[in-house]
Amino acid sequence: MSSKSRGLLFIVSAPSGAGKTTLVERLVEHTPHLKMSRSYTSRRARAGEIDGVDYNFVSRERFEAMIAAGEFLEWAEVFGNLYGTSAADTERMLAEGNDVVLVIDVQGARKVRSRGIETTAIFVMPPSMHVLEQRLRGRSKDSEEAIQRRLQVAREEVAAFVDYEFVVVNDELTAAVDRLRSIVIAQRSRLRRMRADAEGIVKTFG
Ligand code: 5GP
Repeated sequence: MSSKSRGLLFIVSAPSGAGKTTLVERLVEHTPHLKMSRSYTSRRARAGEIDGVDYNFVSRERFEAMIAAGEFLEWAEVFGNLYGTSAADTERMLAEGNDVVLVIDVQGARKVRSRGIETTAIFVMPPSMHVLEQRLRGRSKDSEEAIQRRLQVAREEVAAFVDYEFVVVNDELTAAVDRLRSIVIAQRSRLRRMRADAEGIVKTFG
């Protein structure tokens, strides 16, 4: 669909380690006209992360100046670092007719919702706490303390699934990406979005 109408805004949240970044990267790769928003963060880049690709890495001072200037659609402090979504970047992508996915934490999702912005919010869950713990241990060189901290935050975060419209369990990557894609396709097929196309088709019937 290359419709020029304004794009749809999707939110994907998940506890850290649930695999949401990989999922959403795959989703975007396989779905035309769907873009992933690039957040700003005050945290340092991890090994292998690239400024302007994984995040826009900025100093805490710069981030705070952006908050003061009202540049964020939403922002939140997560694990002691600031993360935020640029309002202008998001608006540009939506205005170009692309659908946009924000991969943000549950606090950020709440802020977007409280602004009355229309979104489709999807919560990605690991199959169990045990699986999440294994993934956290497997992927990182985080200290035991850091892993415990992430698990504690995850315990609080998973309870937030009730605030979302869709839940996807990330048990198997390909199946989970398919489920995410089916949500995007369903939202694109809603009458509200399809009305002009449908009316055009009706006209061909004379
Ligand atoms: P990480 O430092 O592991 O890349 O991300 C830590 C957490 O910050 C994740 O839960 C991620 O979803 C969240 N996050 C990343 N970007 C944003 C953002 O722009 N806004 C908010 N609210 N959370 C974000």
